[in-house]
Amino acid sequence: MAGVWILVEHRDGEIRRVTLEAAGAARKVADELGTEVTAVMLASGLEDKAAELGAYGVDKVLYAEGEAFAYYTAEVYAAAVAELVKQHQPDVLLFPASLQGKDLAGRLAAKLDVSVAVDCTALAVADGRLKATRPMYAGKVYAEVILSGQPQIASLRPNVFDVVETGGSAAVEKVEVAAPEPRVTLDEVLKEAEGKIELTEASIIVSGGRGMKAAENFKILEELASVLGAAVGASRSAVDAGWRPHTDQVGQTGKVVCPNLYIACGISGAIQHLAGMGTSKVIVAINKDPDAPIHSKANYSVVADLFKVVPPFTEECKKIKAAQ
Ligand SMILES: Cc1cc2nc3c(=O)[nH]c(=O)nc-3n(C[C@H](O)[C@H](O)[C@H](O)COP(=O)(O)OP(=O)(O)OC[C@H]3O[C@@H](n4cnc5c(N)ncnc54)[C@H](O)[C@@H]3O)c2cc1C
Repeated sequence: MAGVWILVEHRDGEIRRVTLEAAGAARKVADELGTEVTAVMLASGLEDKAAELGAYGVDKVLYAEGEAFAYYTAEVYAAAVAELVKQHQPDVLLFPASLQGKDLAGRLAAKLDVSVAVDCTALAVADGRLKATRPMYAGKVYAEVILSGQPQIASLRPNVFDVVETGGSAAVEKVEVAAPEPRVTLDEVLKEAEGKIELTEASIIVSGGRGMKAAENFKILEELASVLGAAVGASRSAVDAGWRPHTDQVGQTGKVVCPNLYIACGISGAIQHLAGMGTSKVIVAINKDPDAPIHSKANYSVVADLFKVVPPFTEECKKIKAAQ
């Protein structure tokens, strides 16, 4: 058994939470297979960080140092990881289903001529092989797939798998892997506004749709989000109307999110929107139409005018927070 691998994602010198979730999932799969968890980290100047992964279930880190690895580029990362896979022959390779992970998993699977299960919401082991559960048809059905070939590649939906603190330690092994001359070079990284919470990593999302009626009304949601420590999302209608940037869009053609709490304000609950947030742990729908489909998906339904409900709710949240 050559083990279960995860690929480490890092940004601004920190290992991203989605990687720790993948480490937790990998640990469970590896325990069932009776094998080890290895993290592959391509980076520049982050060797000290690599050892931290031991506390989250990783046994070993293969760390490759290089200027070319400082930022993710599909071409360079895919070539380097493919090279390492060929050398070490892992059984399973897990990625976060982040933008980077989805991009890389598909590219790598094509390079290695194996299949990939994307955006998985559960993993198990059946007869010594990975059994992955993944949504199909915009989340209408869930398929259980057993992957053929080696390695078996899967990407994991962010916020679905728990971060498991094992308190262990990981051996860091420095590896040499050639980085190909990239055909695309990175000129500049444009940063999100300071303090803005990334939608796919947010544990609470307050989202607005066409019912918000105008771009400036989103400040109501921004205020609630700032009290709750939440990110602000949007339906496609709100994005198409130019009220929010596309980076805020939740759904089939936007981001897939899985927060602990999703508050949908003035969103009808079209299937394409549900595809992006339907696995949220708790859904609150605020919609004045009692027949809006979002209500049938919601754990808590508020049939009311959002403009009458959200501002006083924000005030109550502020009071509770102030009293803490
Ligand atoms: C290929 C394809 C891909 C798509 N991808 C996406 C996607 O990624 N994400 C996405 O969201 N959509 C997507 N869509 C669009 C989707 O089909 C819906 O059109 C869209 O989600 C509707 O957005 P909405 O709920 O904001 O607007 P609407 O459907 O118009 O709903 C607005 C809701 O607001 C409520 N409302 C109005 N005023 C108030 C008020 N004062 N208080 C409370 N409630 C109020 C209304 O009752 C209504 O239910 C896609 C469509 C296609 C065809």
